[in-house]
Amino acid sequence: MNDTKLIPELYGSLVFNDKVMRERLPKDIYKALHKTIQNGTHLELDVANVVAAAMKEWAVEHGATHFTHWFQPMTGFTAEKHDSFISPTGDGQVIMEFSGKELIKGEPDASSFPSGGLRATFEARGYTAWDPTSPAFIKDGSLYIPTAFCSYNGEALDKKTPLLRSMEALNTSAVKLLHLLGREDVRKVDTTIGSEQEYFLIDKDLYKKRKDLLFCGRTLIGAPAPKGQEMEDHYFGVLKPKVSAYMHDLDEELWKLGVPAKTKHNEVAPSQHELAPVFSTANVAADHNQLTMEIMKKVADKHHFACLLHEKPFEGINGSGKHNNWSMVTDGGENLLNPGKTPAENQQFLVFLLAVIKAVDEYADLMRVSVASAGNDHRLGGNEAPPAIVSIFLGDELTAVLRSIEEGTDFKKQKQTLMEIGAHVLPHFAKDTTDRNRTSPFAFTGNKFEFRMPGSSLSVAEPNIILNTAVAEALDQIYETLKDVPENGLDDAIQELLKTMIKNHKKILFNGNGYTDEWVEEAARRGLYNLKSLPDAVPQFIADKNVELFTKHHIFSKDEIYSRYEILLENYAKTLHIESLAMQDMVKKDFTPALFAYINTLTEEVLHKKELLPELPFSYEKDIITTLSAAAEQIMTSLKELEESTACAEGKEDVLEAARSYHDQVLAAMESLRLAVDQAEALMPSGSLPYPTYDELLFSLR
Ligand code: ADP
Ligand code: MG
Repeated sequence: MNDTKLIPELYGSLVFNDKVMRERLPKDIYKALHKTIQNGTHLELDVANVVAAAMKEWAVEHGATHFTHWFQPMTGFTAEKHDSFISPTGDGQVIMEFSGKELIKGEPDASSFPSGGLRATFEARGYTAWDPTSPAFIKDGSLYIPTAFCSYNGEALDKKTPLLRSMEALNTSAVKLLHLLGREDVRKVDTTIGSEQEYFLIDKDLYKKRKDLLFCGRTLIGAPAPKGQEMEDHYFGVLKPKVSAYMHDLDEELWKLGVPAKTKHNEVAPSQHELAPVFSTANVAADHNQLTMEIMKKVADKHHFACLLHEKPFEGINGSGKHNNWSMVTDGGENLLNPGKTPAENQQFLVFLLAVIKAVDEYADLMRVSVASAGNDHRLGGNEAPPAIVSIFLGDELTAVLRSIEEGTDFKKQKQTLMEIGAHVLPHFAKDTTDRNRTSPFAFTGNKFEFRMPGSSLSVAEPNIILNTAVAEALDQIYETLKDVPENGLDDAIQELLKTMIKNHKKILFNGNGYTDEWVEEAARRGLYNLKSLPDAVPQFIADKNVELFTKHHIFSKDEIYSRYEILLENYAKTLHIESLAMQDMVKKDFTPALFAYINTLTEEVLHKKELLPELPFSYEKDIITTLSAAAEQIMTSLKELEESTACAEGKEDVLEAARSYHDQVLAAMESLRLAVDQAEALMPSGSLPYPTYDELLFSLR
C-alpha cells in the first residue's frame, strides 16, 4: 500500500464488524444481535435469518461465492468446509442464498477429527455452532463464520468451546466479587489477551530440500553454523529488505481481516522474527492468532519464504514462543490489574492480584500442561525460554507492597525518579519502579501478566482456559470468605485475607534468574512442580483436584477431560513417531549414501595419489577417512536402536506408556543418531551434502 491515508479504510475491510452490522441491519435486529454479543443472550431464528441475509449480501458484494463454518478441532489447526451460496431455481438458473439456519449451525462429518474416544466413528455427527462474539470475515472468496465444534451429545471437540466457557466462569466469579466489594456498577468482566508471535523465515527452495522441515517443521540433523546468536546482533537488528517487504505485506493482509498487528521486529536467533498485535478479548484474540499463523505462512509463500512456527526448528539457537499477555477488564473499560499510582492503597487491585497469584500457585501443574507439546519440550528449560517450573515475577515495588502487608507495616512508596541519561539534549522521563525479568515464566508487566511458556505453534486458547478457570476459582474462594462479613468490617477482613493469601502462596513468587541451577534446587525445596516433559506433565491433567476444578466451573465434563488427556498423549506419540520415521528416511536415503560416496571418493583419491607419490603418508586424508568410517559405524548402530525403540513404543497399548516410551527411548535414540550424523556432516564438503546446511538455511538471506 503506497497511500498510507487509506489504511483506516483498509483496516477490517473484509470483516463483518460492528460498523457493517450497524449500517446493514435493521435497528431492532442490530440491537438483538448486539445484546447477544454483549451478554450472551439467546438469538432467535428470525433474527438470525435477517443477519444471514445481510451477511450474504455483504459477502457477495466483496466477491465471496461460498461460506464456511470455521472451527478449531483438537488437531491444533483450524478446519473449514466450503458451501457455495448458490441455490438452483428450477429453470436452469441459480440465486445466491444463505439462511439463518445455515449461519447458526453446521454439520460437518466429525469422524476424522480427534475426539479422544468421545465419539465412535459410527456416530460421526458433529455440530458447528456460530460464535457471534467473533466477527465473520472474508478470505479467498469465502465468508468465514467462526464456530464452536461439538459432538452429537454436546461435548466440546474443539478449543473455542472451553475457552468461551472459561471466560464465562471468570466473568461470573469476578462480577460477583466486585459487587461484594461495592462495585455494583460492573456488569461484565472480560479477559484480554495480546499474544506475541515468534517465527522463522527460511528461503523456500532450501526448505523444500529438507525432508525434516517438510514433515516435522524442524531440523532433525544438521551441524551448527560457525555463527549462532552469540553476537546478539539480530535482536531488534535492521530488517533486511526482503524481510521488511514480507512484514509489510503481512501487516496489510492482517489489517484487512481486522487483526490489529502492531509491533514487528527481528528476534534473538538468526532468521527469527516477531509480530505482536494490540490486545483484544480472549476469544477474538485466540481466533486472530490462528489467522495470524495461517496468513504468516501464506504471505511467506508469496515472498518465496517458508515460515516456520515450530518451537525448535534449529538446534543450538533459540526456538520460538508465543508470549501470552493477559488481563481482566470491566465493561466500563477498567483494567482490574492496573495498580494505579498507589498500589498499596488500591485494595481492589490487590485482591485481584492475589487471586491470580493463588490461582497460578494452586494450578501451576495445569499451567504447565496447557503449554505441553512435543515441540515445546525442546524449549522449556533450554536456557532460552523460561524453565518448566512455573513461578511468578512481581518486581521490586509490588514485592515490597506484599511484604509490608504480610508484616503489617506501612509501605513507603519509592519516589519515582527521573531517568538520568547524562546528556541534556535527551528528553527526561520517569523511571519505571521496577526492571523487567526475561527469565520468569509468568511476569507482572505493569498492568497485565505475561505468560512466557507457550510455544509458538500453540493455540492460545489452551493456556487461557486454565488461567481463566483457575482465577475464577480463586475469586470464588475469596468471595466465600468475605460474603458474610458485615460491611463495616469488610476492609479489615480483606486486609486479613490478603495477609493469609500472601503467606500461603508466596512460595510461587520468584524475582531472580529462572535459568540457573540454583533456582531448580530452590524450587524443589519450595515444593514447586518441575514437570520437565509432556509425559511428565499430562497426568496432572486428570489429577483429582484438577478434575474437580474443571467440572465445578463447567469447563470440561469428566469425559471431556479424559478425551483431552488421551489426545494430548496420542498427539505426542504421533509427532515423535513421524519424527523418527522422517529421521530414519533422511539418514538412510540422503545422508549415508552421501557419506559413503564421500568416503569412497577420498579413499580412491588416496589410492591414486599413493601410486604417484608412494613416499607420502597421506595422514590427513586417512584421518578423515577413519573418523568418517567410525561415524558411519555409529550411525548404523544408532539407526538400529532408533528402529527398534520406535517399534517398541508403537506397540504399547496404553497411551501414557507409549508417550513415555517415545520420550525415554525414541527421543534418546534420535539424539545419539543426530550426534553421529552431525559429527560426520561437519567434516564433509558442502557440495557433497544432499540437503542445505545450517549455514545456508540461517544465513543465506541477504
Ligand atoms: P514485550 O515484547 O515487551 O513483552 P510487546 O509490546 O511486544 O511487549 O507486547 C505486549 C503485548 O501485550 C501486546 O500484544 C499488547 O497489546 C499486550 N497488552 C497490553 N496491555 C494488555 C492488557 N491489558 N491485556 C492483555 N494484553 C495486553
Ligand atoms: Mg514479551
